[in-house]
Amino acid sequence: MTVTATRIPMLIDGEWINSDSSASIPVTNPATQEVLAHTPCATDDEMARAMTSAQKAFETWKEVPVPQRARLMLKYQALLKEHHDELATILAEETGKTFEDAKGDVWRGIEVVEHACNASSLLMGETVENVARSIDCHSWIQPMGVFAGITPFNFPAMIPLWMFPMAIVCGNTFVLKPSEQDPRTPNRLAELFIEAGFPKDVLQVVHGAKPQVDFLLHHPDVVGISFVGSVPVGQYVYKTATDNLKRCQSFAGAKNHMVVMPDADKAQVISALKGAACGAAGQRCMAISVCVLVGQAQEWAQEIADELATLKPGPYTDENAAFGPVISAAAKDRINGIVTTAMDSGATCLLDGRAIQVEGYPDGNWVGTSVFSNVTTDMPLYQEEVFGPVLSMMNADTLDEAIALINNNPYGNGTSIFTDSGFSARHFQHHIKVGQVGINVPIPVPLPFFSFTGWRGSFYGDQHAYGKQAVRFYTETKTVTSRWFAPNEAASANMTIQLK
Ligand code: NAD
Repeated sequence: MTVTATRIPMLIDGEWINSDSSASIPVTNPATQEVLAHTPCATDDEMARAMTSAQKAFETWKEVPVPQRARLMLKYQALLKEHHDELATILAEETGKTFEDAKGDVWRGIEVVEHACNASSLLMGETVENVARSIDCHSWIQPMGVFAGITPFNFPAMIPLWMFPMAIVCGNTFVLKPSEQDPRTPNRLAELFIEAGFPKDVLQVVHGAKPQVDFLLHHPDVVGISFVGSVPVGQYVYKTATDNLKRCQSFAGAKNHMVVMPDADKAQVISALKGAACGAAGQRCMAISVCVLVGQAQEWAQEIADELATLKPGPYTDENAAFGPVISAAAKDRINGIVTTAMDSGATCLLDGRAIQVEGYPDGNWVGTSVFSNVTTDMPLYQEEVFGPVLSMMNADTLDEAIALINNNPYGNGTSIFTDSGFSARHFQHHIKVGQVGINVPIPVPLPFFSFTGWRGSFYGDQHAYGKQAVRFYTETKTVTSRWFAPNEAASANMTIQLK
């Protein structure tokens, strides 16, 4: 532990404060084990103060005109762009991502802020004149109160930015509980948010783990929860939030398949698999972890493994590194354990990445790429979300067999097909039961003006999630029906409802 490592401050009631809690969690550089900081576990009193402040701030913030809120968001977007590389450096240091990948994480978040700048258009209601004689109807979209966000470690810029800018531009206030594993990036996002000129108390940032999440799930003033994380926690958060009658959107884990048809361009397939299976060391909810080889494409298995063997991990300062270390020593042990089990389960190991070393970084959480062929659905390797650079290859005789395999998987976050046939592509996109579908695109992550939702076990709750529909999650719709009487008009006049 270095002596310089500090405790991460929390943003409560407009002030950056140090927690009174004695409990904290070390934040380490995954390439070196250097302790970068300590994440405090907020006390109940601190959590309560954040909630009281957010609730009070809502009363004034909801009255701020929508264009004014959007204008502040424009300033925030400019500040994020100005600090893009600085944010990416903090992010790369604490996640281990390559610098290019870290920049992508920040950029994806900036795009959501750009979307939030359209608040005036996004928050338009609807009107119909003369729903009955002399009666008009219109709807307002209104903010709800205090929302809370709970985010995972793997996108510490993009995912907090999925949440608080949209919630706040809608007129709500927000309490963010970022991942305890990489809290420095979200803290910097919050500093820039205050610098952009937002009232200091519309965003609160609290730190910790399960007890702090539980506090938010049970607090009566939290009107809604946005969660992104693993399947068991996502299910728990969804069940608890809705038991407490809160609105909840819960993005959970994944097992994403890429179908390779024999008419696909082999070079494109291999190039796509390199990034999609191994980028970010496989720690993406949209990573491709299963490659389904259809028909004669099965002959490509060894060549795919040989090409993936050329990818080398390294620290974020190494421009040639294909990916970085995994987030923690525990994650490394878990992934290597899954690979070891796969060896005994009957799958054919074409590449074993367990023993990889990176020169000059003996303590890093390095996991090299592993590739298995002849994987079947009964194997733990197929059933678990590995969240590491491990590719399973499976065989299917036909496209319909591949589609059935994917549709029977408990998760449905992302999928893709590589083919030269328009018919196969169309057949796949029509019959596949997965939220994001790529055609000759390996990781089909949509931009914020589209919706993003997983199917089945990858998403629980309100489908108005990230993206185009997000304002629907963070608002209530109020429909007003009105009638205005002319002077001396009898109240009973002109009320006849036309039945035909
Ligand atoms: P995680 O579930 O361990 O943690 C997510 C958040 O929940 C963190 O803030 C953590 O402090 C909190 N938490 C952890 N355990 C908890 C508990 N028992 N009770 C209450 N709160 C708890 O997830 P992670 O390891 O940080 O992130 C990786 C996971 O996130 C993967 O499964 C990945 O697929 C998923 N993910 C999904 C999406 C998506 O869009 N579907 C996007 C990114 C990541």
